[in-house]
Amino acid sequence: MTRGSVLADLTTLRVGGPVGSLIDAATEEEFVGAVRAADDARTPLLVLGGGSNVVCSDEGFDGAVVRDKRAEVSVQVEGAHGGVTVTASAGTPWADVVSRAVAEGWVGIEALAGIPGSVGATPVQNVGAYGQEVSDVIGSVRTWDRSEARVRTLARSDCRFAYRSSALKGSMEVRDPGGRVWRPTPRFVVLEVSFQLRVGALSAPLQYGQLADVLGIEVGERAPLAEVRNAVLALRRSKGMVLDPDDHDTWSSGSFFTNPILAAGVAAQLPDNAPRYPGGDGGPIDSVKTSAAWLIERAGFGRGFALPGSRAALSSKHTLALTNTGGASGDEVVALARHIRDGVRAAFGVTLEPEPMLVGIEL
Ligand SMILES: Cc1cc2nc3c(=O)[nH]c(=O)nc-3n(C[C@H](O)[C@H](O)[C@H](O)COP(=O)(O)OP(=O)(O)OC[C@H]3O[C@@H](n4cnc5c(N)ncnc54)[C@H](O)[C@@H]3O)c2cc1C
Repeated sequence: MTRGSVLADLTTLRVGGPVGSLIDAATEEEFVGAVRAADDARTPLLVLGGGSNVVCSDEGFDGAVVRDKRAEVSVQVEGAHGGVTVTASAGTPWADVVSRAVAEGWVGIEALAGIPGSVGATPVQNVGAYGQEVSDVIGSVRTWDRSEARVRTLARSDCRFAYRSSALKGSMEVRDPGGRVWRPTPRFVVLEVSFQLRVGALSAPLQYGQLADVLGIEVGERAPLAEVRNAVLALRRSKGMVLDPDDHDTWSSGSFFTNPILAAGVAAQLPDNAPRYPGGDGGPIDSVKTSAAWLIERAGFGRGFALPGSRAALSSKHTLALTNTGGASGDEVVALARHIRDGVRAAFGVTLEPEPMLVGIEL
């Protein structure tokens, strides 16, 4: 156990104050033990992976921060569906799993290259990018159920995956019969995730127009795995979406707001040229997803926008990332987020929702 750590050093946005204690677990026993000890003592718990999807307050977190430091991957060849089941411990860097999949010829996560963080966080918000979501390939999620104090394996269907959402994320807000609220970490702490991947040299059919364009193919066609991964990384770098300590545009928590999913009637009020996509599994059948970045820009907030004197700014490459230009406080990030949210609401009547987990912060 370490004392004296600050959240600014544990997170990619680099804001946030001191934590009560920091525990790095080297085994599953240590990981579960640390979670259990905090819950038994009624100490607030924050399980942290790469800290790339949290925004933390300057007051810090007066509780236990627990990280899984295992990076264990096992592979099972499946005769039945001609693929592989890859099982990775929660602490495994997600980038390692994608790199290995591309190298070995395992299909289904090549477009998720460049997403920072750990395997354990991927099912929590069902990470997605460039037309793929991790829920497309998750077979099961082995968890520690904090409410029942036992290991529980969740089948894919138990996870109720949707756009940037899952039953795990939802479990943070649900009170258990004892009145406990688990936020900012789910009731179900992920111990390991099993991914079911096809074997092949070509990617899954591409779903994202911009990615298909740079590869010179049509949406629905396939390309060699490494080419897809490299094209995704190049696109992401151009938007400041690949971590780089020298590039302040990447000192962020990724996309700060989710793309709103609107009832058809509300979407009809948007300007004719607003992007419109099927709402999919995130809302009613006739719901419409629009682009948060488009709304932000059209509400008058361009790239690099900052409030006077603030060290928090929109990325100079992409309006959806709130960044730390160096030495920003959590309060500065929150002030910017509120200003953008309120400006978009005033312009379009749409309230943007934050994508990252807010720790000790209300927007
Ligand atoms: C530059 C950049 C680009 C990004 N691009 C994308 C993108 O394209 N698509 C996308 O979906 N996301 C993106 N993100 C967001 C982020 O990388 C992902 O959400 C990632 O999965 C978070 O992993 P993490 O380990 O850093 O999670 P953390 O930030 O450490 O934690 C996030 C939440 O998950 C919980 N959590 C972490 N580990 C566990 C566990 N083992 N069990 C239960 N709960 C756990 C935490 O308690 C917290 O509530 C981006 C972020 C950055 C900084």
